[in-house]
Amino acid sequence: MNRSEAEKWLFRAEIPIGAFLVRFNKASNCSLSLSLKVVDKVVHYRIRQLHNDKYFITRRVMFCTIQELIDYYQKNADGLAQRLSVPCVCPHPPVTKYLSYKEEWEIHRNLLQFDKKLGMGNFSEVWSGLWSNSVPVAIKILKPGAMKIMKAEKFVAEAQKIRKFSHPNLLHLYAVCTLEEPIYIVTELMKYGALLDYMRKGDGQYLKLPQLIDMAAQVAGGMAYLEEHSYIHRDLAARNILVGESIICKVADFGLACVIKKDIYNPQDGTKFPVKWTAPEAALYNKFSIKSDVWSFGIVIYELITFGRMPYPCMNNHEALKAVKHGYRMPPPMGCPCALYSGIMLSCWEREPNNRPTFELLQFLLEDYFVVSAERESGYRSAD
Ligand code: ADP
Repeated sequence: MNRSEAEKWLFRAEIPIGAFLVRFNKASNCSLSLSLKVVDKVVHYRIRQLHNDKYFITRRVMFCTIQELIDYYQKNADGLAQRLSVPCVCPHPPVTKYLSYKEEWEIHRNLLQFDKKLGMGNFSEVWSGLWSNSVPVAIKILKPGAMKIMKAEKFVAEAQKIRKFSHPNLLHLYAVCTLEEPIYIVTELMKYGALLDYMRKGDGQYLKLPQLIDMAAQVAGGMAYLEEHSYIHRDLAARNILVGESIICKVADFGLACVIKKDIYNPQDGTKFPVKWTAPEAALYNKFSIKSDVWSFGIVIYELITFGRMPYPCMNNHEALKAVKHGYRMPPPMGCPCALYSGIMLSCWEREPNNRPTFELLQFLLEDYFVVSAERESGYRSAD
């Protein structure tokens, strides 16, 4: 469980002050953290381990087991922001668990109830609604013709693959209706919609650096999962990332770019082609890879740090592609820390794809960076 998921659980109104959970942090070598609810926020403490032996938050007091550590801090705060009260329990099984009991993948469209139109995309209209009268979902209605007829089969095969993916930072695909047009794609519903809108005109406008870095780390986490499963996104951008409760970010729309009509999605003349997000080797020679996704990820960080600014603001697509091809890279946006720009963004924009970092490393670096910047804003704390 990552930091923002822990916050999501602990922030629930019914969870009392002092409630806590202990979590593994997969990204930082399975280290342990203690997340604790205090009056108006959640604080996180690293649980450290001495030579694989004793556990401690502060070196003053060490414990043989995690349980002993918990028992101790339940009796007195001893430097924590608050004495531990009860463990934070998860009252309902997650929706995805419930859904996985259901075998059906191709569902009947009359099981879907439409509620509100959430947005319009290039290729679809998206509605919120209910599945089987009980599960809140987002329903994407593909515009008839957005998919080549001969590619419908490819779409179903692609969707089958995507359906098996399961990661907290990837949008969960629940079901499809593909037997007739328009095709429906049923996914989990994300409260705050697309990251781009959230940053430009939603609550994202008020976020501070540690949260922005945390969001970037979450996206890197979702992408690291795709990387591990040898899957390429092809259209990673803030408009294709969705934001949910407690600022959880989920990568969406993966794999769909390759089944969309070629003429719409053509780097040379397709007006919809996201040139400014695409690595030069992909835009010029159609060489898409996880490394071209890493390039796009660098642009996503730019979008986060600038609160949704259009990349290469003074250039059109053609000019941006030409400049990038000749070695131009965007300068650091205002307020962007040097370590983030030089250490991470520029490395994503290396000309040679193999010199770009892996998403696994990016996630690790960003989480590490987040800890440092959050420490400054008193996120991670010392109990000393
Ligand atoms: P397209 O892929 O056709 O461009 P999008 O996926 O961008 O369409 O969806 C259009 C809009 O619908 C998004 O900007 C977002 O606001 C909203 N939306 C899409 N999926 C969801 C979802 N799962 N939950 C909530 N809102 C969504």
